[in-house]
Order: sequence, then structure tokens, then C-alpha cells
Amino acid sequence: MSNKNGEDSHTPQNIQLDRRKLLAIGSGTAMAATSLPSVVFAEGQTPQVPRRVLGKTGQKIPILLFGAAVKLDRRFDPKLAEAFRFGIDYIDAADCYNGGACEERVGNFWTRAKLKRDDFWITSKSDEHDPEGLERTLDNGLKQLQTNYVNLYFLHGLKNPDYLSSGLEKKVATLKKSGKIRHFGFSCHDGNVAELLQMASKLPWIDAIMFRYNFRKYGDKELNKAIDAAHKANIGLIAMKTQGSEASFRDAWKKFEKTGRWNKHQAVLKAVWDDKRITAAVSHMQSLQQLRENVEAAVDNKKLTQSERSALDRYAEATRSLACDGCDHICNPHVDAPVEIGATLRHLMYHEVYGEPAKARLNFVATVPAAARNLRSIDFSRAEAACPNGVAIGPLMERAFQVLNASPQLAAEIT
Ligand code: SF4
Repeated sequence: MSNKNGEDSHTPQNIQLDRRKLLAIGSGTAMAATSLPSVVFAEGQTPQVPRRVLGKTGQKIPILLFGAAVKLDRRFDPKLAEAFRFGIDYIDAADCYNGGACEERVGNFWTRAKLKRDDFWITSKSDEHDPEGLERTLDNGLKQLQTNYVNLYFLHGLKNPDYLSSGLEKKVATLKKSGKIRHFGFSCHDGNVAELLQMASKLPWIDAIMFRYNFRKYGDKELNKAIDAAHKANIGLIAMKTQGSEASFRDAWKKFEKTGRWNKHQAVLKAVWDDKRITAAVSHMQSLQQLRENVEAAVDNKKLTQSERSALDRYAEATRSLACDGCDHICNPHVDAPVEIGATLRHLMYHEVYGEPAKARLNFVATVPAAARNLRSIDFSRAEAACPNGVAIGPLMERAFQVLNASPQLAAEIT
């Protein structure tokens, strides 16, 4: 059945999981009948998230995807179970999420839920970007996921376009032929997203891209041109970081709340879905409450109204100096120290906005070189002057220095 936007609200692929059965499977986990939130939908209501075609894959996927970077239960994750009930049958995994345990936990979930593997979608990612490392990571991931294929495989967090080599193209062709992967692409969230999208639009072997995109980027001409090119090449486009790298916008948001129907997380998702070049948004849903709110926004067919949209634009402008786009090829050269401003502020966002301080600190220490973590007594004034968003880099880097330095035992807290 299609709605007026040509989106399916229900397809045979949707899996209708029985709630009592899931509760039984999940007993002993965090899920219990009494802990389910009562907001948004009346008991017994299970509206299905609409679906759109993911570019040249030709496959319809839900417009709201389950981001498995969120902490998953070891044996059976209740958030995933709830997501499937609403037709969110797409899991966005990676080798490194959940302290490296993500794929294993996804494998435990779907086998314990007794899902049929062909009835749902797994995307996973490799942090190894060379052809051999990618295949090694994929093979290990398939074992953890307890499957012999993934629907889509990504180079994770691609920054260097040189990795999109003819050697990788050959490897991708072999992996597709072997049946281990159905489709291939990459994710990217650094400052060269537009460059990577443009490059990919000329590479027929790139099927899908997941990239940093949100309501703040509507006016970005270079990015919009690149999205147009990728869309014209029929590459499936998935938005991530839809919340827009905010730090602490609560006061600015209050004005918008008065003019809109949606809470902040819902409104920014709707802004992304209003862009029909984008197939879906991956969301980091940490609670059943958040999941249900996102579903409520997804199943509402109406676009944001003009006044909601302009209020969101005003909100974006009012908070622009707190939003880092990761384009640190612009600001890093203006600092007399080997800093990584974009990556540091991204980890600060995970700490401040995603509410995952332990994970943010652990990943900061694990992925940002020690020299770039030494943020004491550094003059960021020239970098601030160069930043197109006017980000207050100095105070934010000071904050990052204070909160992101962590001891390795934090690993225990996130796994
Ligand atoms: S601080 Fe500014 S220039 Fe630097 S990465 Fe962030 S948005 Fe780009």
C-alpha cells in the first residue's frame, strides 16, 4: 500500500513480531512489561514506518533505521525487538560499535528472535579500508552476526578518497559474486563529504552512502550539488548525524517548541525526510520512549509546515556557533599544534548530546592520537576566525580536554 508520497506503509517484508513472544524471549533482559513507555501509541497500536527505495539496490527500506551504535543488550535487545514491531527491519551495525561487540549482539538478537534472515536487512561496516583488511573484517563480522551475508557493507568513516581504488572495486566485485555482500558503499562524516559524494557518483560500484546530513545543511550549495549528483547516479542516500552536532541548545529550542508539533529530535528527523533525495535516516535510539517518538514522526505523512521549517531555520542560525561540521581541513592548519578539531568536537558531541560519556571518552582516547589530545595552552583564535560556522573552538576544546580524558577501564562500562 502506498501513501501519496509513493512510500509504502506496509510491505510483505514487514515482520510482525508477537509482543508477548518477544517479552518471553527477552525475559531476564532489560525489557519487562511494566517498563514499556505508555506514550505516543495506545496499547495494541503498531503503525508501520513508511518505506522508500534505496537507490540502485532497488530494495525498499524503512525511512527510520535502527543505529546499532547504541548500547545493545548482550543476549536480546528490547529496543531492537520494539523497532521490528514498527517495521524498522533494518539494523545499522559496525565492527567497532558496542566496544567491538555490536555484530555479536545483533547475531544474538535475530537468532533468539527466530527471525528469517531474508526478512530483514543488516548493514555493517569495516574500519579497515584496504581490500584485504576489509575482507578480513567482513569474514569476522559474518561469524559474529551468525549469517553468511550482509545486505550492505560500508567502508566506515571514509575520509581519504584514495581508498576508493580499482583494487577495492575488484574486491567488492569478488565479494558480491561470493554472495557475502549484496551491496556496497561507504559512510562519511568529515568535512569532505561533498567531495566523496561527487567522486562516488562517477563510480558505478558504489550502491549506497551514509553521510552526515541534517537541517543545518539545507543551504550548503556545494553539498547540495554533490547530493544531486549522487542522487542522479541512483546511489542510495542515508542521512546520519541528523541531530546536527549540537552542544547545549536547550534555551534556543524553547522558542521553537512553541510553534511546532514536534519535539526537537522529531523535528530534525522530519526535516531530513522532507528531502526526497534521502531514502532514510539512521537514528541512535537509546530508549523505547525515544524509539516510539521517532516512529510517531515517521508515520506522520505531512511535511513540516512553513512556520515549523522557518522556526527550525532560525534555531539553526541561533545555534550555529555550537555546531561543528567536521571540516577540520579548514581550521586545523591555523593551530600551532597537531590537533584534530573535528574529531575532538564529534566526541564531545557524543559526551554532551548523546548522553554516553563513558563511550565518548573511551573512543576519544582510542581514536585520537595522544599528541592531538594534549589541548592545554593552545591558541585557537586563528582557527576560530577561519571557521565558516563561527564555532567557539577554544572554549569547546577546553571543555573536551576536561571531560574526554579517560582511563582504559571505562571499556567495562560500555560493553
Ligand atoms: S570548528 Fe569549524 S572549521 Fe573546524 S571542523 Fe568544526 S565547523 Fe569545520
